[in-house]
Amino acid sequence: MLIIDHERCTACKVCIRNCPFGALRIEDGLLQVNESCTLCGACVNVCRFKALGIERKQASPEELAKYKGVFVWVELDEETTPRQPRKVVLELLGKGRQLANALGEELVAVVLAGTGEVDLQVFGQHGADRVILCRHELLETYSTDGFTNVMCAVISAKKPAVVLYGATPHGRDFAPRVAARLKLGLTADCTGLEIDTDRQLVQTRPAFGGNIMASIITPYNRPQTATVRPNVFPVPEKQPAGSAVTEEFPVTLNRSAIRTRVVEKNTLVDGSEASIEDARVIVAGGRGCQKASNLDLLRTLAGQLGGTLAGSRAIVEQGWIPHTRQVGQSGTTVGPELYIAVGVSGAIQHVVGMSSSKTVIAINKDPEAGIFKTADLGVVGDALEILPILSALIEKEKQMQAASS
Ligand SMILES: Cc1cc2nc3c(=O)[nH]c(=O)nc-3n(C[C@H](O)[C@H](O)[C@H](O)COP(=O)(O)OP(=O)(O)OC[C@H]3O[C@@H](n4cnc5c(N)ncnc54)[C@H](O)[C@@H]3O)c2cc1C
Repeated sequence: MLIIDHERCTACKVCIRNCPFGALRIEDGLLQVNESCTLCGACVNVCRFKALGIERKQASPEELAKYKGVFVWVELDEETTPRQPRKVVLELLGKGRQLANALGEELVAVVLAGTGEVDLQVFGQHGADRVILCRHELLETYSTDGFTNVMCAVISAKKPAVVLYGATPHGRDFAPRVAARLKLGLTADCTGLEIDTDRQLVQTRPAFGGNIMASIITPYNRPQTATVRPNVFPVPEKQPAGSAVTEEFPVTLNRSAIRTRVVEKNTLVDGSEASIEDARVIVAGGRGCQKASNLDLLRTLAGQLGGTLAGSRAIVEQGWIPHTRQVGQSGTTVGPELYIAVGVSGAIQHVVGMSSSKTVIAINKDPEAGIFKTADLGVVGDALEILPILSALIEKEKQMQAASS
């Protein structure tokens, strides 16, 4: 709640000019606040007369304790039949299982689906105790309004302690809306999640351009909500015997509540190269590759290894590859089996996007390059000389294998 000290307030209006939400006005010579106030604190910071303050209602430990369970929003791949969850959902179930165990509470998969068939077995097999199934024909295709309405209803009714979303385009679209509507905090793009000794969710994410890691807690209200990028956490091993209880959640949804409609779907494909998000092998180029045509050496190597080409922001900015192939904080987070970084310096903003790779090989002519700290195998030398030799060796090995089989 915004506290206005009318004794101190001079009605100078500086706070009104600085309020991003138009929540302040002068009425009968007195400063007043309306319901648009989000307690962002912009007015408090600019008040020279110390006439404004924020009183945050701290929920009592008893109130906080009423919220239980770790909920994971299940994003379904709309191209699959029966509908399957996207890979990030399984990653979140793996992490969610650890959090639920630390709290001694349930792990719940929240499925928002149309009337078609959904593979529900997969959730129990990846650690969920319970599936909350919300079905409605208007949930067949994603819509911001429809999904926000239903998720808000589930959270309000079930009172979870933690809600996790994949930081996919849809997750990034509706998680903040749910948080705003229910007046919750939301930490975006987390790279680490833990439960501390006070049973709070510690949400870690890069801050200040990736130069520091911020640990964020939500002490005043529940649920604690966060989005997590794909490929940050590993997919847990599938337990074929694992099962979860399914609970149908009644959905009330009206077409008039949904202000958008899918008219057409167009998939943006850059050339014939596969997407980097789910790639098993990635060969990533940096500015050290020197010119766009040299990336053909990386493409050849990627092709030989059944992988795909990616790169640093530096080469995206040069226009050598599209942004869809950028690895890092302002690009995509990847988690392949093998990541070969060629002429990449290893800036923190790049490394946060590839550090979950299983094996990292770096080729760089500077023995002090930061990328070597992340690499399992480092090759110091000129990449433009090394890559043709490497490709020739792989080719020779393949021919030998073919001859002996
Ligand atoms: C807010 C913010 C977000 C950012 N987001 C991202 C992001 O998502 N992804 C990202 O990548 N960057 C990001 N950056 C930029 C990042 O800080 C670096 O500037 C960038 O990663 C550097 O790219 P690079 O390693 O290709 O180039 P450089 O830093 O120029 O490194 C080139 C490397 O190539 C080596 N080299 C040169 N010639 C050869 C050769 N012949 N053979 C072998 N090695 C050679 C050099 O020794 C050097 O180490 C971000 C920055 C900010 C501030």
